[in-house]
Amino acid sequence: MKSENKDKKFEDYLILVRDFTNKILIPNEEILEEQGMVGKEIMLKIKELGLFGISIPEKYGGLGFDMEEQVLLTFEFTRASSVYRSRFSTTIGLCSQALLDFGTTKQKENILPSMARGDLVGAFALTEPNAGSDANAIETTAIKENDNYVLNGTKKYITNAPYADIFLVMAKTDNSFKGSKGISSFLVDAKLPGIQVGKIPKLLGQRGSAPTDINFTDCVVPSDSLLGGQEGGGLKPALRGINHARLHVAATCVGQAQRLIEEAIKFAKSRNQFNMPISEMPSIQNMLADSFTEMVAAKAMTLEAARNFDKGEIPEVEISAAKYFASEMVTRVADNSVQIMGGAGFIDDNVITRFYRDTRLFRLYEGTSQIQQRNIARKIIKVFDD
Ligand SMILES: Cc1cc2nc3c(=O)[nH]c(=O)nc-3n(C[C@H](O)[C@H](O)[C@H](O)COP(=O)(O)OP(=O)(O)OC[C@H]3O[C@@H](n4cnc5c(N)ncnc54)[C@H](O)[C@@H]3O)c2cc1C
Repeated sequence: MKSENKDKKFEDYLILVRDFTNKILIPNEEILEEQGMVGKEIMLKIKELGLFGISIPEKYGGLGFDMEEQVLLTFEFTRASSVYRSRFSTTIGLCSQALLDFGTTKQKENILPSMARGDLVGAFALTEPNAGSDANAIETTAIKENDNYVLNGTKKYITNAPYADIFLVMAKTDNSFKGSKGISSFLVDAKLPGIQVGKIPKLLGQRGSAPTDINFTDCVVPSDSLLGGQEGGGLKPALRGINHARLHVAATCVGQAQRLIEEAIKFAKSRNQFNMPISEMPSIQNMLADSFTEMVAAKAMTLEAARNFDKGEIPEVEISAAKYFASEMVTRVADNSVQIMGGAGFIDDNVITRFYRDTRLFRLYEGTSQIQQRNIARKIIKVFDD
C-alpha cells in the first residue's frame, strides 16, 4: 500500500520531469541531432534531476520509484527524442536491476549509489556477432586464472559502450555445458587493459545514441567482479535486466506516440487544402483516431504489466505482449503521421520524420517482435499442457 507521502513525492517529481521535458529536452532536440550526441550540459541536468536513479532503491541513494511510477515517468520524458533516454536507460534498467537482484551486498553497496547519482554509467554487454536473438550462443570466454578471470571475445551493438564506466558482461566460464548453464556475468571496469571500444556506426535513427562493439583481448578481471560471487548463473541476471528494460521500452513507445500524435495534429490544423484545414477531412481524422486509439491501448497494457510487476513476480508474458504491441504500434503511428504530412513528411527537417526513423529500433532490440511472439506463444501454450 502506497503512503500519501510517497504519492506526494512521486506527483511532485512527475511535474518536474514533465517541465524538464517541455522546457529543456524538447527545445534541445535539434542541437542533439546536429551535434550527434547529448551535450554535456544536458547530461548534467539529467543527472541533477535524478533520472539515473528512478529505479534504484532509496537505501542505495536512488529515488526508489516502483515500476508503475517508472513507467509513468517514462511516458513523460520520452515525448522528447528517445536518444536522451538511451543515455541513461542501460544504467537504470539492464545493469542496475541485474545487480540489485543478483549482486553481492558489497557489489551493490559499491556500485549502486554511484549509478543512482549518474556518476557511474553502465553498459550491458550480451549481444555478439554470432549470438543475437539466441543469447545462449555467446562465445566470449572468461577463464579462471588464479584470483582473476581472463576475458576474450567480441560484443556487438552495446549501447553507451563509449560512455560507460562499467560493463555488465555475459561470458562462458564453462564451455562443457550447452545452453545457458555455463554462462556467468561480470561487472567489468571499462578502463581495464585489454578492452577496446569500437567506433559509433552510422545509424538509421536515434542518431546521437552510441551502440558500438567491445573487444576483450586477454582482459584480466579480478574474481570479485563475478556478479553474485558465483559462476554459472546462466542468463537469469541478464533476463532480469532485459525484462525491466522491455517494459521501459513499451513505455517509451507510448511517450513517442503521444508526441507524434501531438505533432501530426499541429500540422493537420495548419495545413490547408481544398480551402480547409486537412484536420477537418475524415480520412485525416481516421488516421489520427487510429493512432490515438492504439496509443491508449499500448498505454493500458504497459501500465497493467507494470502493476503486476509491482506485485512481486515478473510478468514475463505481459511484458513481452506490451513490448511487442507498443513497438509495432508506434511505428504505425509514425507512418500515419508521415502520411498526414504529405510530401513534407519525406523531408528530413522535422520531428515526425526524425521520430519515424528513431522508432524503428523499438521492434528490433530488447528482443525482436518475432522473439516476443515466440515468448508469448510458448508460455500461453504451456498453460494448456496436461
Ligand atoms: C541500436 C541497437 C542497440 C542495441 N543495444 C544493445 C545493448 O546495449 N546490449 C546488447 O547486448 N545488445 C544490444 N543490441 C542488440 C539487440 O538486442 C539485437 O540486435 C537483437 O536482439 C537481435 O539480434 P540480431 O541483431 O543478432 O538479429 P538476429 O537474432 O540475427 O535476427 C535476425 C532476424 O531473425 C529473426 N529471428 C531470430 N531468431 C528467431 C526465432 N527463434 N524465431 C523467429 N524469428 C527469429 C529475428 O526476429 C530477426 O527478424 C542493440 C541493437 C541495436 C540495433
